[in-house]
Amino acid sequence: MNHLVVDVKNVMKELGNKEEFHRAVDLSPLEKDSERISFDGPVDVDLSLENTGFGVLVAGKVKGKLKISCSRCLCDFLLSAEFELSEVYAPDRPEEQKYRIVDNSIDLGPALDENFILEIPIAPLCDATCKGLCPVCGSNLNVSECRHEVERFDERLSELKEWFKKKEEGTNE
Ligand SMILES: [Zn+2]
Ligand SMILES: [Zn+2]
Repeated sequence: MNHLVVDVKNVMKELGNKEEFHRAVDLSPLEKDSERISFDGPVDVDLSLENTGFGVLVAGKVKGKLKISCSRCLCDFLLSAEFELSEVYAPDRPEEQKYRIVDNSIDLGPALDENFILEIPIAPLCDATCKGLCPVCGSNLNVSECRHEVERFDERLSELKEWFKKKEEGTNE
């Protein structure tokens, strides 16, 4: 789990106080379904922190690139992930540990982890037209066509020829 602790003492002092938080941060890999998904380069965190009276409203945009495996061809590719954050951190949110202000600080890490995980599709694809792997030899069909692809095509073709032959002979039902 990541931790990104931000001091909010000055924001807390007075209603309406506001601070900007712009930083490129390196995050450690995410854990999703016992899989580790790492980031490619730092994550851009552009947030404003504002005292709303109820707590500190953290709002803005977060952007990063994740190293993902394609669910069809199993190759690695980069997924650009971006989300808006808008959450109130307060001293007493016992039901929401991750949005608590403790010792005049907030920890943005858990919220970043959670939102990045939500950005990962259930079946990620390197490309919408990814051809996947050959079910016979396992070669990546995006890179090269294997002979099995041709054989399967020939099979379909001969089935078609058979069908036409039967039709001509009038034996097709
Ligand atoms: Zn793929
Ligand atoms: Zn093959």
